[in-house]
Amino acid sequence: MNPFIDLRSDTVTKPTPAMLEAMFQAQVGDDVYSEDPTVNELQAYGASLFGMEAGLFCPSGTMTNQIAIKMHTQPLSEVVCDRTSHIYLYEVGGIAFNSAASVQLIDGQRGKISPNQVAACINPDNIHFPETSLVSLENTCNKGGGAYYTLSEIAEISEVCLQNKIALHLDGARVFNALVASGDDAKEYGRYFDTISVCLSKGLGAPVGSLLLGPKPLIEKAKRVRKVLGGGWRQAGFLAAAGLYALQNNIQRLQVDHDRAALIEKALNEAPYVSAVMPVETNIVIFTLAPEVNADGYLEYLAERGIQGTSFGPQMIRFVTHLDLTDDMISAILQAISDYKG
Ligand SMILES: *Cc1c(COP(=O)(O)O)cnc(C)c1O
Repeated sequence: MNPFIDLRSDTVTKPTPAMLEAMFQAQVGDDVYSEDPTVNELQAYGASLFGMEAGLFCPSGTMTNQIAIKMHTQPLSEVVCDRTSHIYLYEVGGIAFNSAASVQLIDGQRGKISPNQVAACINPDNIHFPETSLVSLENTCNKGGGAYYTLSEIAEISEVCLQNKIALHLDGARVFNALVASGDDAKEYGRYFDTISVCLSKGLGAPVGSLLLGPKPLIEKAKRVRKVLGGGWRQAGFLAAAGLYALQNNIQRLQVDHDRAALIEKALNEAPYVSAVMPVETNIVIFTLAPEVNADGYLEYLAERGIQGTSFGPQMIRFVTHLDLTDDMISAILQAISDYKG
């Protein structure tokens, strides 16, 4: 049991007794034979939420993103995304390793790219250039401090992709945070994206797992790619049961995480040693310390108070709120922020 109040990430959550009970009760079979009823139910349920035909349950969001990129590219083609995207920064260079594709990076605003920026970086049909074949959005944007795209912003980018016959993928590791904050309808997403990756192991609180959603034929082909990556798993229904439980019980409560993140934002804005806080939109708080305070020193101070965060650079720190926090823990965090004397 971690004795710390853990704000490093929303991946750190542990299954609740009710989620564990759902896992114990799961009906399972061999998923490599597509015979695990709980995996099949999770895949169908996840797909239906987003107005998609089919789903594929995978061990991680890195795997669902990398499979999607593989499905939408060929060697000598190019992926367009924001410079701070998870698919580019935090997936070990997998776009090159798995798909032999290149990347065109856009300097977005807090991780969000615009239709004009997308249109401007589509390569002309000329043998000097890789063929632009995929645009990938991240919603919410991790490095952008949890900023989110609205459906109308997504629709405009989708239009540019359609006109240029380019696929559109969503890294929706935290898409439910975006949906709860924007009030947008998940079902509409299926109209704009060719594929969607959703993490069950972030704010939704499942221990493991992500879903890749898309059209049936694409998901059938994606199964082969999952297999070659070593992701063909057997009685995965025990984990799928946790994912189903998460989707059926833990979406609306994300608002609590957002409200708590806003409380932390307010305390940081009042702290004299904080020079800037990215406006909080969901459950991520990224802030910059004044020049005389460094992130490692501040994290040491927090650790003495039993609190953990993540260093996001020499002066920058990230906090993420999630369902394993309590009101008392939030009070302790607010107190620690206001007590710091440098
Ligand atoms: C967490 C995350 C992923 C996937 O991470 P895994 O640890 O591989 O499940 C993908 N994109 C974003 C933006 C994330 O935050």
